[in-house]
Amino acid sequence: MSTALETLRRDFGGDIIEPGGARYASAGRTVLVPGSPAFVLRPKNVADVRAGVRFASATGQLLSVRGGGHSFPGFGTNDGGVVIDLGHLAHVEVIDDVRHLVRTGGGATWGQVADALAPHGLAISSGDTRGVGVGGLTLSGGIGWKVRKYGLTLDSMVAAEVVTAAGEVVRASAAEHPDLFWALRGGGGNFGIVTAFEFAAHPTTDVFHGRITFPAAEAAGVLQGWAEYVRTAPDALTSTADFANPFAGGPEAPVQIHVAFDGDDPRAAARAVDPIRRLGTVTGDDIALKPCADTLVDAVAAPPGVRLLTRSGFVTEEAVPGALRVLAEAGAAQGSPFIAVRSVGAAVSRVADDATAYAHRRAELMIVTTTAGPEPVVEAARPALEALWHRLAPHVGGAYANFLASATDDDVAAVYPAAVRERLAAVKRRYDPGNLFSSNHNIRPR
Ligand SMILES: Cc1cc2nc3c(=O)[nH]c(=O)nc-3n(C[C@H](O)[C@H](O)[C@H](O)COP(=O)(O)OP(=O)(O)OC[C@H]3O[C@@H](n4cnc5c(N)ncnc54)[C@H](O)[C@@H]3O)c2cc1C
Repeated sequence: MSTALETLRRDFGGDIIEPGGARYASAGRTVLVPGSPAFVLRPKNVADVRAGVRFASATGQLLSVRGGGHSFPGFGTNDGGVVIDLGHLAHVEVIDDVRHLVRTGGGATWGQVADALAPHGLAISSGDTRGVGVGGLTLSGGIGWKVRKYGLTLDSMVAAEVVTAAGEVVRASAAEHPDLFWALRGGGGNFGIVTAFEFAAHPTTDVFHGRITFPAAEAAGVLQGWAEYVRTAPDALTSTADFANPFAGGPEAPVQIHVAFDGDDPRAAARAVDPIRRLGTVTGDDIALKPCADTLVDAVAAPPGVRLLTRSGFVTEEAVPGALRVLAEAGAAQGSPFIAVRSVGAAVSRVADDATAYAHRRAELMIVTTTAGPEPVVEAARPALEALWHRLAPHVGGAYANFLASATDDDVAAVYPAAVRERLAAVKRRYDPGNLFSSNHNIRPR
């Protein structure tokens, strides 16, 4: 260890943060999960990342890689191991104005990307939150306000610069290391540290964005009507339904349909959004034209001791009515988790199943439930949550890695069906045979 540490101190030009230092309290934890790593390394360049990887590998310590630090299981920290925090690698640059190619550092956040691209009239289909990292969100999917028009975030990724477990730097794209390029688009952080991403961004105008609310009592009808409508709605319209929000009245909370219409033509927007307004008794409607970057919000860090239990599953067309019936009933009961349903399909499902390692392209909807609170509250809510997912089981399949608070073997199997897992394991054997990158929904090399 002491030799490896001496080598690290010699080769590493970034910050080395250890317990006891002034910065340790904030550097040790992620946004959602506390941690007590032995070392937090903040590389300033690719050479530092390589030195950090060599250090973790030489000492055999558990390695966690942190992008934006928003993962629900807290993959970006650990107890007693090494964290490589990519926060300094946050540059965002338009590298080709004609083809709208954008290069970001592996530790950039979506807020930084949105701010940097706004003056160029560009955007990348990403998520809904500024602080979420480009790394974690992209490597497992990326479902946000432009998903139905431009697909997942990983569908816009054209190349990545990766530091492998051996400390080598490789470029992955359709033409270079195509096996790695395939695996990075859905396989999470299993294959190395992405020090830079390249994306094909999309021109954007201001967009119509906001929410339409309906009384809780109308949940069942509004949800069914919404799901039926989004099946034939224009791709420019991406929407999400949520209800049973414990922070806004639990079962009495309004049903909210959050809407993003990708365009600034008010008549086209009204044509796309009005069918949603007609789904029930509108009690609120704040849809307005705004800069695309303003559709991303700031997340609040979890207060100390608060845990988030997040779980997800996908619904294909024929299962939609049954799944929504179960959810509407569950949402009306005391103790329901917060329920969100996101529309996907459209551009996501127009990409071939085997083109990337993301395995849920046939889904129309994604269900996400969240239970939050101090540990005892979350544990008390667990039986109702299990019962809900048991009832949903005949109607849902798979899971979205980015909305899962746990990483059991069952979770990994839900994220990656067997054939995808086998193909990922072959890539893992090539780029990380010793499973150095294991703090994720882990693909074991064997
Ligand atoms: C408030 C909130 C809102 C969210 N909204 C959305 C949303 O709208 N759409 C959506 O799809 N998801 C959303 N998510 C989920 C989000 O995509 C995941 O939590 C994601 O893993 C976060 O990425 P991160 O880089 O911030 O997290 P981290 O915890 O830093 O990383 C997550 C995983 O990715 C790996 N990783 C990160 N960066 C790199 C890199 N450069 N190279 C290699 N591995 C890397 C890490 O090792 C870890 O395994 C949201 C999450 C939160 C908490």
